[in-house]
Amino acid sequence: MISVWLHRPRFLHLGLFVAGYVLGCAFANVLGIVPGTSIAIWTPGGLFMATLMLASTPSWPWWVLAGCVGELIGQFLWFHSPLPASLLMYVGNALEAVAGAWLVIRVCGRPVRLETLKEVLAFVVLGAGIAPAISATVGSATLAWFDIKSQTFTAAWPLWWIGDATGVLIVAPLALDVFQNWHGNSQLSAARWVEASVLGLIFLGVAALSLSGYLPFAYIIMPPLLWAAVRFELRGAAVTLIVLALITAVFTISGASQFAGDPESQRQRQIMLQLFLAISALSALIVAAISRQHQLAVLKLRQSERSLRDLVETLPALIWCAAPDGKPIYFSQQLSGFIGFGDQDVADTSRIVNVLDAIIHPDDLAAVKKLFAHSLATGEPYAQKHRLRRFDGEYRWVEIRAAAMRNSDGAIMQWNGVCLDIEDQVRARDDLRLAQENLARASQAASLAELSASIAHEVNQPLAAIVANSHAGQRWLMAAPPNIERAQKRIERIIQDANSAADVVSHIRALFKHSIETRTSTTLASVIAEARDLMAEEAARRRVRMDVDVESNLPFVTLDRVQIQQVLINLIRNGMDAMDSATGDRVFGIRVRRMGDVVQTEISDHGPGVSFPDRIFEPFFTTKEHGMGMGLAICRSIVESHGGRLWAENNEPHGATFIFTLPVDATADAPASRAAGNQNRAS
Ligand code: ADP
Repeated sequence: MISVWLHRPRFLHLGLFVAGYVLGCAFANVLGIVPGTSIAIWTPGGLFMATLMLASTPSWPWWVLAGCVGELIGQFLWFHSPLPASLLMYVGNALEAVAGAWLVIRVCGRPVRLETLKEVLAFVVLGAGIAPAISATVGSATLAWFDIKSQTFTAAWPLWWIGDATGVLIVAPLALDVFQNWHGNSQLSAARWVEASVLGLIFLGVAALSLSGYLPFAYIIMPPLLWAAVRFELRGAAVTLIVLALITAVFTISGASQFAGDPESQRQRQIMLQLFLAISALSALIVAAISRQHQLAVLKLRQSERSLRDLVETLPALIWCAAPDGKPIYFSQQLSGFIGFGDQDVADTSRIVNVLDAIIHPDDLAAVKKLFAHSLATGEPYAQKHRLRRFDGEYRWVEIRAAAMRNSDGAIMQWNGVCLDIEDQVRARDDLRLAQENLARASQAASLAELSASIAHEVNQPLAAIVANSHAGQRWLMAAPPNIERAQKRIERIIQDANSAADVVSHIRALFKHSIETRTSTTLASVIAEARDLMAEEAARRRVRMDVDVESNLPFVTLDRVQIQQVLINLIRNGMDAMDSATGDRVFGIRVRRMGDVVQTEISDHGPGVSFPDRIFEPFFTTKEHGMGMGLAICRSIVESHGGRLWAENNEPHGATFIFTLPVDATADAPASRAAGNQNRAS
C-alpha cells in the first residue's frame, strides 16, 4: 500500500489522462453510428493501454482509478448507462488495458517503442487482439444483462471487440510516441519538412477524395499511408492513422462516407469501417517497424564502418587495398597524405596506377614489379623493402607487406596491405654499420701498429747484434795481421742472429694462419651464399647488383670457412669500391666452377680495372685514400695456405676479375648426395 502511495503519479498527469479519456469517449460517441451501440472505435482503450505500458507497475492502480473517473464522466455525458452497468463495463475496459500492457511488456520488455517487428507483432496480437476480447466479453455481457438498447451478447461482441482493437491500434502508437518524445527536439531537416508537408497534402487529398466517394475505393489511401510509415517510421504512421481516423469520422458522420448508409446496412458498413481502420493501422505499423529496423541496421553498419575507418586511420601504419588484379582500390588518408595524393586521386584510383610507377625509386621499380607480379600470380603474401617518394619529393625507405583476402571458395577477393616508413631504422642501421666498419678499421690499424712494434722489437735485437758482430768481424779482418779465427767466430754469431730473426718472422706468419684443425670439408656453394647474404644490404645501399652463378654438383674442398669468407668479402668489397667511381653498369659477378682438380672462383667487376697488377698483392700497397693495403696480401696468404692460388686479371673493355682456386678434396665422397642446393643462382 505504501509502495502504491509512493508511486503516485503527478496530479497534473492524472488530470491530463482523465481529460484525454473523456475526449476519447466523445470521439467514440460521435462515430457510433450503428443504432443501439453508440460506439464504433473505442479510442480511450488505446490511450489507457499506452499509459500503462509506460507507467511503472506499482503506479497502475492510480491510472485505473483515474480511468474510472474518465469513464464515469463519459457515461454521464454521452452514453447514459445505469451506474452498475457503467462500472461493470469499465471493469472490462480496465482489464483490457492492464492485460494488454502486461502481456506486451512481458514479451517485449520495457520501454515499449514499437521499433522492431517483434514489438509490433506482440502489440498487435496481444494488445490489439487478445486484450480487447476481455473487454468485449465483459461489455457485451453487461449490455445483454442490463438489456441496454436491446443488445444481445452475440450481436454486440464482434462490434465491441473490433471497435476496441481499432482504438488500440490507432491511438496507442501515437500516445507512446508523444509520451516518450515529449521533450525531444524534432531533428527533421528542411528537406524532410518539405517532404512531410507534401506527403500531408497528398494524404489529406487522397483521404478526402476516397472517403467522400469520389475515388471508388477507400483503400486507395494505402500508398501515402505506407509512404509516411516508410519515411517517417512510427511517428509518421501514428500521425497519419489518427488523421485518417478523424477524416473517416467526419465523412461518416456527415453521411458522405462510403461507410455511412441506411439503418439496415449500417451494421455491415460499420464493421467495414472498423476493418478499414484496423487494416490500415496494422499495415502502417508493420511497415514502420520494418523501416525502423532497416534504418537501425543501416545506422549500425555506418557506425561499424566509421569505427573501422577510424581504426584504419589511427593505426600507426599506412593501409591500402587492391583488387585481385593488383589495381589499387583504397588508400588510407595517412597513406594518401604520405604520398601526396589529392582527393581526386583517391576517388579515382585509376589515376593512382599511373602515378605509382613514378613514386617508386627507379632502382627498385623492377624488383617491386617482379615480386608483386609473383604474388598476384601465386597468391603468396608480398613483402618488400624499397624506396618511395614522399609528397615533398624525398625518397624514404618503406616496408610493404600485403596478403590476399579470400572468400569461402579460396578465390582472392582483394589484397590488403600495410606500408611502414622504415627510413629511420634503415638510417640507424647504416650509421651503426658505418660505426662498426670504422671501429674495425681502427682496431685493425691499432693491432697492425702493435704488431709492427712487436716485430720491430723482436727483429731489432738480432739485427743490432748482427750489426755489432759485423763491425767486430770487420775489425778482426782489417787487423794486421788479420785474425781469421776471431773473425770466423763473429761470422758464426752473425749467422745465428740472422736465423733467430728469421724465426721471429716465421712465428709472426704462423700467427696469421688459422689452425689446420678448424678446416672442414664442404662445397663452396654454401660459403658463397653466406658471403652474398652478408653483403646484400651493403650492395643494395651502394646500388650494386650481384650476379651469383654457382655450378651444380661442385666437389668438396677442405677449407677454413671463416677465412674463405674473409677472402670473398674482401674481394667483393674491393669490387664495390672500384665501381664507386664507375658510370656504367653497377653489376659484379661471382662465378664458381670446377676446373680439373681445383674449384675456381671468379669475382669480376665493372670498375676501371687493376693499374698495378704486380704490386697489388704486396703488403701495404694501396691506391685508396684510407686504404691499408693489407687486404689482398692477407687474401693471398689465406688462399695459398689452403693450397690454392689468387691472382688478378683485367677485363675487356674494362673491369677486373680476381680469381682464386682451391684444390678438390680427394678424400671426400661425391658431393651430390651430401650437399643440397649447390645450384645457387641468384641476383
Ligand atoms: P686496400 O683495399 O686497403 O687498398 P687491398 O690490398 O685490398 O687494400 O687492395 C690493394 C689495391 O689493389 C687497392 O688499393 C687497389 O688499388 C687495388 N685493387 C684491389 N681490388 C681492385 C679492383 N677490384 N679493381 C681495381 N683495383 C683494385
